[in-house]
Amino acid sequence: AIEITGLRKSFGDNEVLKGIDLSVHTGEVVCVIGPSGSGKSTLLRTVNRLEEPSGGSLRIEGEDILDPDCDIDSVRTRIGMVFQQFNLFPHLDVMGNLTIAQRRVLKRGKQESAEVARAMLERVGLADRGDAYPAQLSGGQQQRVAIARALSMNPDMMLFDEPTSALDPELVGEVLDVMKLLAAEGMTMMVVTHEMGFAREVGDRLVFMDDGLIVEEGVPAEVLADPQHARTQAFLSKVL
Ligand code: ATP
Ligand code: MG
Repeated sequence: AIEITGLRKSFGDNEVLKGIDLSVHTGEVVCVIGPSGSGKSTLLRTVNRLEEPSGGSLRIEGEDILDPDCDIDSVRTRIGMVFQQFNLFPHLDVMGNLTIAQRRVLKRGKQESAEVARAMLERVGLADRGDAYPAQLSGGQQQRVAIARALSMNPDMMLFDEPTSALDPELVGEVLDVMKLLAAEGMTMMVVTHEMGFAREVGDRLVFMDDGLIVEEGVPAEVLADPQHARTQAFLSKVL
């Protein structure tokens, strides 16, 4: 579970997160929507301290990850992250991409890391592409490799930052299908997305952010059909 309380983040005098309270329970899928610049990516990046918060508290599985004694590297290995840009290592083939962090960070042996990698490739439907290089794959395949790479670390939770926004429309579905599968298996997920259909179908909760604050949250179908706040209404009228 992720427990975010009063979370603040400033870049210089630009306060980007203005006191975020949000809990993501084990097995829950929370989708985050909101206009550009509202702080969605900063929120996700702060959860595993890729950004240092300016205030508030942050607990992962009960552990205070802002505590100076917290081993943040060990926390990060339990949180998988997938970005809009797939960020695969271009000089490594797919198996190399899936095994390098297992070997370096988790100190798994060659055989074990390869076995895990193959199992994860199977899950994302790419069992036969282990020796391909990223440039030889479609965007949808690359993003599925990125998801498999994150899963190879056996994370407790996954953070997705607009995982389908860089994809051609016809490739979006195959990535959403993999995410749907993960959700069905009970993975704890935070998903920043513009895919309202996914949010409605797969999300347990939908959070609307604007200007560094959570303006509204609720059951996705309800928020989408009957938004309570003027800012949510204005945003949804533009994207739906
Ligand atoms: P988008 O939908 O465009 O991805 P977002 O909701 O993810 O937007 P963020 O990327 O979190 O928004 O950015 C929120 C604000 O923080 C923006 O004003 C942005 O310019 C600022 N910001 C983000 N990262 C940094 C940084 N590293 N340094 C300075 N300002 C930053
Ligand atoms: Mg963003």
